[in-house]
Amino acid sequence: MATDYYSVLGVDRNASQDEIRAKFRELAKKYHPDVNAGSKEAEQKFKEVAEAYEVLSDPQKRQQYDATGSTTFGDASGSGGSGFNWEDFSHFDDINDIFSKIFGGGFGGGNTGGFYGGYDTQPDLDIYIKVNVTMEDAYYGASKPVKFKRNAMCETCNGTGAEGGVLVTCPTCHGTGKERISRGQGFFNFVQVIVCRTCNGRGKIPKTPCKVCNGKGYIPKMENISITIPKGVDTNTRLRTQKLGNSFGGVTGDLYAVVYVQQNPNIKRTGDNLYVKEAIDFPTAALGGTVQIPLFKEKFNLTIPAGSQPDDVLRIKGAGMPRLTSHGSGDLLVVLKLQVPKHLSSREKELIEELKGEPVKKSWFHI
Ligand SMILES: [Zn+2]
Ligand SMILES: [Zn+2]
Repeated sequence: MATDYYSVLGVDRNASQDEIRAKFRELAKKYHPDVNAGSKEAEQKFKEVAEAYEVLSDPQKRQQYDATGSTTFGDASGSGGSGFNWEDFSHFDDINDIFSKIFGGGFGGGNTGGFYGGYDTQPDLDIYIKVNVTMEDAYYGASKPVKFKRNAMCETCNGTGAEGGVLVTCPTCHGTGKERISRGQGFFNFVQVIVCRTCNGRGKIPKTPCKVCNGKGYIPKMENISITIPKGVDTNTRLRTQKLGNSFGGVTGDLYAVVYVQQNPNIKRTGDNLYVKEAIDFPTAALGGTVQIPLFKEKFNLTIPAGSQPDDVLRIKGAGMPRLTSHGSGDLLVVLKLQVPKHLSSREKELIEELKGEPVKKSWFHI
């Protein structure tokens, strides 16, 4: 009887490719022969899981399997000769990925004594750092000191890692940059193609390693620099500084400062518009007037029209956040809050009592 690949992976029949992939990775790690030394049961499970994945991860094979309940790949109870081929299977990225996780990327310490310090894949060349700024910094622009570590290009060898820059073809991979290694044992023996550990995929090695960088072509360096924060930045604005990333193989990446604008309890930002609250008293709301709205180091005059209501929003054009990518600024929007005094002088009390007695008071409210 054919094995149900869906139950082998423990997924629904309508599971997405992502779910199938995730489940496979989980199970492959669990049953991998290298972490279940000698367990026949785990070995069998691993084989079943791998076979189920090979079918279900391929939309065409999956469709055929869904339609007919079988594939041309033999059944999972496989008493040998099922046609299941590990060598074919080893090209799966997932398998490579799982191996690198299981072996911690080190392949059992397989340091071949290469000039680049053994197995050491190319790092990310671009460096990302977070830069905290205040809303005031975003309003006026600023300069922020940052400190970060990077692999700087060795200037003695121009990043080649070679004395005098003289490189020769890598004897391990003969210039291909790839190495075929045999993994596992017995039934699970298969060939895996990895980045050449002698030359790190570059295909060339120094004739004589540079003495300054030990043939690496880069030197770890602590950088202390200032990032220019332009006006109008927002959270997640990325500011690029060229050639301040990591250097590898003579190529240097860039530094990205990712801005985080701290919240300001008194100012709300929506795009380039800023919102502030302003408390006004009843006479100003009723009769109108002029108030000053402070914003960072600025003070804007705002005319309050007579008959202003609580929560009315007044606009000061062009007083908001400067635009990062174009000219001009957003607007400053002032939300009016009516302030009712809690403590009154006897004179104030007298005046309000008088107002209260006025027959027109009903007309204050247009409800
Ligand atoms: Zn090589
Ligand atoms: Zn060097």
